[in-house]
Parts: sequence; structure tokens; C-alpha cells
Amino acid sequence: MTAAARRVRTRARVTGTVQGVGFRPFVYRLAHEQGLAGWVLNDEHGVLLEVEGLAPELSHFFDRLSAEAPPLARVESVSPSATPVTGEPGFRIVTSVRVGDPDALIAADAATCEDCLAELRDPDDRRYRYPFTNCTNCGPRFTIVNGVPYDRPLTTMAAFTMCSECAREYEDPGDRRFHAQPNACPACGPAVRLRDAAGRGLAFFTDPSGEKRQASGGDPISALAARLSEGAIAAVKGLGGYHLVCDAANERAVAALRARKHREDKPFALMVADVASARRLVELDVSAETSLTGVSRPIVLAPRLPDAVIAPSVAPGAPELGVMLPYTPLHHLLLADFADFAGDALVMTSGNVSDEPIAYRDEDALERLSTIADLFLVHDRQIETRTDDSVVRSVTVGGRRRPLMLRRSRGYVPESLTLPIEAPRPLLACGAEQKATFCVARGERAWVGHHIGDLEHLATLTAYREGIGHFQRMFAVAPELVAHDLHPDYLSTQYALELDEVALVGVQHHHAHLAACLAEHGVTTPAVGAIFDGTGLGADGTVWGGELLVGDLRGYERAGWLWPLRMPGGAAAVRQPWRMAAAWLSEALGAEPPLPAALRATVSASDWNAVGRIARAPELSPVTSSIGRLFDAVGALCGAPARVSYEGQAAVELEALAWTAGDRASGGGYPFERAAGCVLDPRPAVRELVSELDRGVAAAVVSARFHAGVAAASVEAVTAIASARGLETAVLSGGVFQNRLLLERVAAGLDAAGLRVLVPQRLPPNDGGISFGQAAVAAAQ
Ligand SMILES: [Zn+2]
Ligand SMILES: [Zn+2]
Repeated sequence: MTAAARRVRTRARVTGTVQGVGFRPFVYRLAHEQGLAGWVLNDEHGVLLEVEGLAPELSHFFDRLSAEAPPLARVESVSPSATPVTGEPGFRIVTSVRVGDPDALIAADAATCEDCLAELRDPDDRRYRYPFTNCTNCGPRFTIVNGVPYDRPLTTMAAFTMCSECAREYEDPGDRRFHAQPNACPACGPAVRLRDAAGRGLAFFTDPSGEKRQASGGDPISALAARLSEGAIAAVKGLGGYHLVCDAANERAVAALRARKHREDKPFALMVADVASARRLVELDVSAETSLTGVSRPIVLAPRLPDAVIAPSVAPGAPELGVMLPYTPLHHLLLADFADFAGDALVMTSGNVSDEPIAYRDEDALERLSTIADLFLVHDRQIETRTDDSVVRSVTVGGRRRPLMLRRSRGYVPESLTLPIEAPRPLLACGAEQKATFCVARGERAWVGHHIGDLEHLATLTAYREGIGHFQRMFAVAPELVAHDLHPDYLSTQYALELDEVALVGVQHHHAHLAACLAEHGVTTPAVGAIFDGTGLGADGTVWGGELLVGDLRGYERAGWLWPLRMPGGAAAVRQPWRMAAAWLSEALGAEPPLPAALRATVSASDWNAVGRIARAPELSPVTSSIGRLFDAVGALCGAPARVSYEGQAAVELEALAWTAGDRASGGGYPFERAAGCVLDPRPAVRELVSELDRGVAAAVVSARFHAGVAAASVEAVTAIASARGLETAVLSGGVFQNRLLLERVAAGLDAAGLRVLVPQRLPPNDGGISFGQAAVAAAQ
């Protein structure tokens, strides 16, 4: 047989995250190395290629295709099929075609790679100190994309025409920037500009393309770093929106930022130059460090070190700090310049007032942030989709440390998730109200949108509507099936109900939590779920939140719940946790309990008595089985403020207290009873903890014993349900499981009892995961 006779040709479809990640140049290089002819192209379904050559070389090629894929690529499938030999010479990259439905997955934004950083720091490189340096392995993606296929004309880089140097890199298959859509340099790309709140230019490049990049007022980033070191507050345009930035060690600056932003207690995130700097602030385990340094670059919450040099106002009373590393060249330059003047940590918090969505359009940012920021570092690359920084913390589940997602946005969105049961029709799931996200799905593929925030402002609602529209276009989903929460007042529900000519599927809130976790793990069989959160509307019209559900993707049964009681004044109890303390005390001790010593400093006797009356009025006080509200009650008794500035604050402070108890909490958990069926009755625990507080036992000890009690009762109840029903899998989800102490204890207990424990992984346990659960339920039903 001659060599020519053994020549074969194969066509292959590659799916997954394969666009905008250097996949075509990688295929090109591979084909050259294996001596193959053919072509590769991007289309709406991913990457399509044909290779022709000797059979063993082809086989090598396909082995390497999956094994050596570029760092940002995620190959989900390669489907080869034989096709007639054409004898074409050489291998080429074909320009994108545009037909049919877009399926091709757009990558998430990725942190600056080492090669680009080296150029950024090299005075002889033409991209020396250029804040928009990127390549096929790094840079903006989702935040600049406005359509598919992912090509420059369909990004916000369309406004910039590449110079001849950049164009040469872009065209050269051997170059690191071959088809890097956001490719740019000082001569042809976006430029930064430092201005004051009135819009006057302070530092900018007058001749960016010139031989020496003349700057008026100095280099804008160095000029900003100098001003930050003097205590200024700046708004800095980043990848997914504006940050508010100041020196994290300067108490005056941080306190001023807190006051101007109307943010009372919520900790501010920090950005530090590198892992070594992070280690001076927080304790990092392997999992936390992996998250911190990964290409997604989330904010990592980690235990704060006692000697961390941070202004007190950064995170008042918080045992953890949120830390992230630079993820754009602009951030790298800013942190490096700032280190030359002052410290190594900057406050980097969302550019918004209080709970509004982060500002991302220039005019809007200048208007909304002009009362907060003294300075603005702006640039002329438009942000297509606003994305907040993602947030993770590390937890021990199943005997190993792993990340727990708390907010999924920049760096992760729009990676797709797989539905274990395919959606029969294109689908939209509208999510909940707090920490809102939406999800669009087609077939087995689902895309959960970026974190929108709480749907209570016009601005968040607008962002929500725009986000849904963008995802529907980007992933060609024209929904015929629309899933929503049962709560009629949620704006996400109202959005769903306003849609015409769609089939609606109402999904119970806690079932959605259960289904989200099951679906993420590809589980379609029934499991028992402990779904603990703040509030969600139950099927019986009461407010649920301490649910033991038995179910799968199709349906569920309420096997157990927390002892229900009235929530005095409904939503008012969320902001005033002492109201829940009043409710629980009257439940545990009798109708009109005296104002406990622990609350005398913060609550007046008349308020206490008034709330007692409100609690007895059914029309004012809905019945709830929420564990989140029980944590609030105990938090209030253990010293949380009378009025908290964000939902769950009392519970967060309660967990923080428990971590400080150490060996003192040796008395074990407070007792819960298990009433008829599987109703967790915490009244004995409440009685004992109140009497301990009255006797002067430290709040830290009380908190630790309370956590231990909830965990033990949960483990016992879940195990009992599992054994009665013959189930082997347990799911832990709901916002209360953001509490690391509780999550780890319950997971360890169930693990020891021989159950397989599932915890949300790529999605948060809080309401940010609800939309995916709704999608999974709607698809399965
Ligand atoms: Zn790069
Ligand atoms: Zn250029």
C-alpha cells in the first residue's frame, strides 16, 4: 500500500467553550506539527474542522486535541466523521460564517496571563504599561460581547481599528494574539484618562500613538496611585463595571467612603498585588489560594489575621476579609504604582450607592458616583454587560477543602451548565427576588445569568430585563416555557406573568433549591434535602425556610420543617431581628415574656410589648418555618444591632461569634425536640440559651452551642428521613448554608452517617441558584 493510499480525511465538530480562547490557532499549530492539511472555523455551534493526512498522524492529532487544549478552553465533545479526501494542500483558518442557531459558548472574562504581564512590565515592549494588553489566553470576553459568533465586530472593540502591528499579530497563526478579538496596543486601542468629579481632565495621553506616548499631567494610573496614597476616593472603570477605590489602610478615607456610599456595616472587598500580600491579611488554605489565583479571580473570603494592617472601617467586626488579586493590566499597574507610594491593599468595592446595581456606563457612573468619588479613572472601551466581582469562600465538605460559591458573576458567567433532563422546549427561568439571577436553557444546555442583585430598585429591574434579552439573543433561546417562583409579589414572577404566549411553570422556592443542587450534580433520583434559608413562599401559603424535603427534579414532598411561629410585622422582622427574638421567646417561654437583659440596651420595653401584640395579629404577622429567622433571633439575643443594614446580618455576626468560642463551648449543642413527624422544635434550645445568657454565659459560647444544636438536630432528622425512605443522598442548600460552621458540621454528621452529601458547587446555595433549579424542574416536568 502506498502512502497516498493511506491518506484519510476527517471532519470533526468540537463543542464546549472553544471560541475566544485560542482554539483555532491551537488547531492550526497541531495540524502543522502533525503534517496535516485542512481547515478550521468558528461557527454558531462551536468549532468545525477538517484534517487530512496519514491515518496515524490524524489519530495523534485527535489525541492531542483534547489533551493539550488551551488553558481557557473547555472541550465538551469532539465528534469526528470520515469525509472524502480532497488532496488540498496546507492548513488554513477560515473566517467565521454566520448561519443557524448560535450554540457556540462564549468564554467568561479571564485574568491577565503571565506572558501579557511580562510585556506590561518590560520597558522595551511596545505594550509597556498598556492597561488593555490581552491575548488569546486572557482578557475580556463576556463583558464586551454583544453577539455571536465571538468575533471583533460583535464586541465593543469594534470601535477600534487595529494598527498594522496589531493586525499582523491578529493574522499570524503562529502568534499568541492570532484572532485575539480584543487585541490592542497604545497606538490603536482604548486609552485611560484620569478626571475629577466635574469632568476636568487631570492626566491623559495627548498622543497615545506617538513615539513616546506623551501624557499630560503624568501617566493617569501613576497619578491616580499618588492621589489614592493621599487619601482620595476614586471610581475606577474595570472589566464589568466601576469600582470605588481607596487606600485600605487609611481610616479617614475608608470611613468617608462608607459614609458617602451609605453602606453601614457590610465589609468592603480588598485588592492586593499578589498572594504574598494576601497572606499578610488573611489565612489562606489550598482551596482558597487556588480560587484566589485562578483565571476567574473571584473575591475570596478568608479568616482575617489578627495583625492585618487594615483600617477598622474596612470590615467592622467581621472575622473574615474579602480579598482578590488584580485581574486586568489596569489593576496590576494600579497596585504596583500604589505600592510605590503607600501600602499594598486597596479597597475595591462595587461602584454603586447602597444596594443599587454596579455602575458600568460612563455617563451613568459619572452621575451616580460623583457624590462619592473625588476622581474617575475612565477609558473608552465600552462595557457591554455589567458584572460584579464573584465571591467564594472555602469549606470542608466530604473531608476536603473546596470552594463554595457565594456570588457567581464575573469570571464564571456565561459558562453553561448541563441539565440532567433536557428541556423539551426553549426555556426561561426567572429566579427569585433577592440575589436575583435568571437562566435560559435549550436542550440539555443552561446558561445562568450574572448576579443582578435584589429586584427592588428600578435600576436592578432594568438590568434584569436587559440581561434576559441579551442572553436570549446570545444563546438563541426564544422561550416557550417560563418557570417562576410561586411568590406573586416577586418582580421576577411578575416579569414571567407579563410574557405572552408562553407556558408558565410555577416552582416552589425550596424545591428549586433542592433541584438546583441535584441537577448540578447530574442526579435525577430522589434525595432528602435540608433546605434552610431566609424566606420563600410555601405551597401552603405560609413562609417556609427550614424545610426537610424529599424529592427529585419532578416533584417533592415536605417531610419535615422547623417549628412554625408568627413573624412579627412580616418583612419588618427581617431588618429588626429582635422582633424574631420576641416571637421565639413568647413561643418558648409563654405569651408575654419580659424583655431579656440581653436586649435592654437596644430595645425599649414599649417596643417590646408592641411587637408582642403585633405577633398575635395574624393579618400583620405571617407564619414562618424559617431557620434564617431563628438565627436572626438568636443573633439579636447575642448582641446584633436592633436594626441591621442587610438581610442576614445578625446571623452572620452570630456565626462570627461562634468561631471565637474555642474550647469554652464544651457543653455540646442545645437540645431540640422532634415533634410529630419531623418537626424540629427549638423551644428547649431557646429556653436554655436564654437562661445561660441571663446567667452571664458569654455570647460566643451560646452561639457555638446553638450552632451545634441546630447541626445535631438537622443531622438526626435528615438521617431519620433518609432511612425511613430508603434514600442514600442528602442535599444541603439555601442561604443559611452560607454559614460555614453550620454547613461543615451538618455535612460531616451526614457523611459519618453514611449518606452521600451534595452541596451546591458551581452555583451559590443562596437564591442566586434558584433560577437554575427552576429550569431543571420545568425541564423535568
Ligand atoms: Zn495574555
Ligand atoms: Zn495596535
